[in-house]
Amino acid sequence: MAIARNVLVVCDASRGHLTASARELLTLARSLADALAGNVDLLALGAAAPNIVADAGAAGADQVCAADGADRQGYHPEAFAAITLRACEAATPRIVLFAHDALGLDLAPRVAFGIGARWATNCIGIAVEGDALRCERTEVGGKLQVVEVIDGQAVATLRPKSIDARAPQSRRDARVLAVPAAPPQAAEGVVFVERRMEDGGAAEELEQAAIVVTGGLGMGSPGAFAKLRELAEALGASLAGSKQAVDRGWIPANRQVGLTGTTVAPKVYVAVAVSGALQHMAGCQKSRTIVAINSDPAAPIFRFARYGIVAKWEEVLPELLAQLSAARA
Ligand SMILES: Cc1cc2nc3c(=O)[nH]c(=O)nc-3n(C[C@H](O)[C@H](O)[C@H](O)COP(=O)(O)OP(=O)(O)OC[C@H]3O[C@@H](n4cnc5c(N)ncnc54)[C@H](O)[C@@H]3O)c2cc1C
Repeated sequence: MAIARNVLVVCDASRGHLTASARELLTLARSLADALAGNVDLLALGAAAPNIVADAGAAGADQVCAADGADRQGYHPEAFAAITLRACEAATPRIVLFAHDALGLDLAPRVAFGIGARWATNCIGIAVEGDALRCERTEVGGKLQVVEVIDGQAVATLRPKSIDARAPQSRRDARVLAVPAAPPQAAEGVVFVERRMEDGGAAEELEQAAIVVTGGLGMGSPGAFAKLRELAEALGASLAGSKQAVDRGWIPANRQVGLTGTTVAPKVYVAVAVSGALQHMAGCQKSRTIVAINSDPAAPIFRFARYGIVAKWEEVLPELLAQLSAARA
């Protein structure tokens, strides 16, 4: 049997547009498909195919899957797994790519099991090497580099911000790939009793922010985060926290930066009272400029920072706010 050459990207488009991580997936998919001499196909869950063909084409897709039920609003694991499996039959992918986010983490293993593929999780890079796929990830908070070489069909999740999304190209719209309807399924086993959205767009907002202000455990209290919010507002920045700050309830979990939170790569990352642990830096070290404020001159964050202030935040923040306010006046 001939080896499949296509790359299928599966993403959440329920906000009506392709997210930054969907564009990163399509950029990676384009380079893999070019190396494999195959197509890039896109299954955008939560959106109707005709609504995104132009956007998808410019971002690197050749075809957008039109599948019954793909525009369903609200994630449903069984329904979306069934749709993705049908899209796999139509697109015959060598590799299926998901973002390493809540949707990818739930759906990718179901799809890997469904098509009998190997799965590689939390990849930071994937390349074609000979006839194989070389999937790279880090472990132990970034201390270990793990490379998995997969000869057959693969399903992978890509860590957001691992690669730069290509700028939109002015090329033709993607074609529509009709995905045949599946025979009626038995009743869905998963029933949602309630859906709650808590600051739902926070992770996406953080991922796209040009400036991020992050507070750590050294802030000392939830009240101190109000001061940090003032700084974020004055800079037009998104507010985030370290895991320690999140664990204490000073800032919501979907604003955590790091290995088990969101990965950001803003132009400026302002880390206030954050020590710079490896697990934190895994989520922000691709920032263009890191500014650190920390009272400990030996804090690891200073190894990553371009600009550092060794002082207590209580002394620095009022001065910074006064300077910003004077500059605006
Ligand atoms: C599997 C795993 C996953 C993890 N994932 C994440 C993750 O996603 N994100 C994450 O952040 N962490 C993560 N962690 C936790 C991580 O190891 C660190 O514990 C955490 O990042 C430390 O947070 P912090 O810098 O706020 O606190 P600390 O390390 O306690 O640092 C506080 C800093 O504040 C400074 N400070 C104190 N008072 C002041 C003051 N008045 N003014 C200025 N500076 C002051 C101190 O000098 C210190 O450097 C993970 C850990 C594990 C094991």
